[in-house]
This record gives sequence, structure tokens and C-alpha cells, in this order.
Amino acid sequence: MNDDFKRRWNLRQVESGVLEGDALGEIIRRGALAVQADAEILADGLCGPDTVSQLDLDRDPPQSDVPIPRGRRADIERVYGTFDYEESEDTKGAIIIERGWSRRNIVKVDFFNGLYTYAHKLVAREMAELFEAACLKSGYTPEKIWSWVPRHKRHDPKAGLSTHAWGISFDVDSAKHRPHTTDGPLFRYPAWAKTFTDANWTWGQHWTRYPDPMHFQRTK
Ligand SMILES: [Zn+2]
Repeated sequence: MNDDFKRRWNLRQVESGVLEGDALGEIIRRGALAVQADAEILADGLCGPDTVSQLDLDRDPPQSDVPIPRGRRADIERVYGTFDYEESEDTKGAIIIERGWSRRNIVKVDFFNGLYTYAHKLVAREMAELFEAACLKSGYTPEKIWSWVPRHKRHDPKAGLSTHAWGISFDVDSAKHRPHTTDGPLFRYPAWAKTFTDANWTWGQHWTRYPDPMHFQRTK
């Protein structure tokens, strides 16, 4: 039985009156405790808004409704959320993001050619769709792609947070597209990058101070 069937089956027990009163209250109390333990929030067994909001029952807007923010941190946070984090003590520029935010927002992205990565749930589907379209249009299919990496820009602890920390950007074939170089496959197959820029994503190559051809992000 899949989860959706189980949810509806249980709901029918409630609707038909089989599950009511103290039995219903006890089932909800135990369920709330399980959800609270999983989300590491206050475990009181009460099914309030904080607990319900942890359920993520297909309440995410369709991908096409997610606005594309400008690249400043405040704009990024308005669309993709904010998180607490701590600095790494031994890995330069790395951060550790609070567990709850990562669990709620980072999902696996499977690409048509068998590659996969982890990214923000609000960009994942579009990332996979544009990736496939870019490969089909251009004739170039990257061998490597990576999105979510909790870190500062350029692994520099003094710089701002990278969009990789939100999982809203990705790098393709990083060994072939070093910053300040223009001889990688993306330059021989321009339709690849254009597929993303036409969809209002930013290509790092267009940054004047630090051209970064491997990098694409869902900000405009
Ligand atoms: Zn990057």
C-alpha cells in the first residue's frame, strides 16, 4: 500500500466514526510525537500549527509559480527561505546548516541521463527539465553535475554565502570549466547555457568580476 492510500484509508475510519473520541485523540497524540521527534521540535504530543507544518503534504506550489528572485541575499531568502548555520572549524568556507531546514528543503534530483544531485525542492523539477532540454538542443550532455553544497562563495569564510548553500545553483563538468577559461564544452555548444538563460537563470560566465562558466543559478 502506498502512503496516499494509507492516508485516505485512515481518513475514512475517522469519517465513518470508527475512529473517534479517545482513540482518535491517542492516535493523533502518538503521531504528533513521531513527527515532532523527526523534525526535532518541541515534543508535546499536541498537533498544533508547528507540527502540521512539518508534514509537507504536497502543499508546495507548482514549480512554474515560484518567482525567480534577484541575486541579493535578502531576495534569495524571500523565495527560498532562511536557515541558521555554524561555521566549519576545519574545512575552509564550509558551513553546517540546521538539520530541519535541510530535511524540509533539499531533495534528490534525477536527470534523464542517470546523473543525480541534491537541490532545493523549489528548483529541482525545473533544473531537471531544463537540463534535459539543454542537452537535447545543444548536443552536449555533461558528465558531472552538483548542486547543494553548504558553503561560502569561493570557499572563502569572509565572503557571503554561496547560492549552492540553498541548493539553487549547480556546476557542470567543473574540471572542464575553470573560472576565467573559455575553452570548455559550454563554449562549443552555446545552446546549452542559452536554454538556462532564456529561462531567466543566471550563467556565472556573465559575471564581470569573476566569470565562472561551470556555474548556473536560479536567480535573475
Ligand atoms: Zn557553482
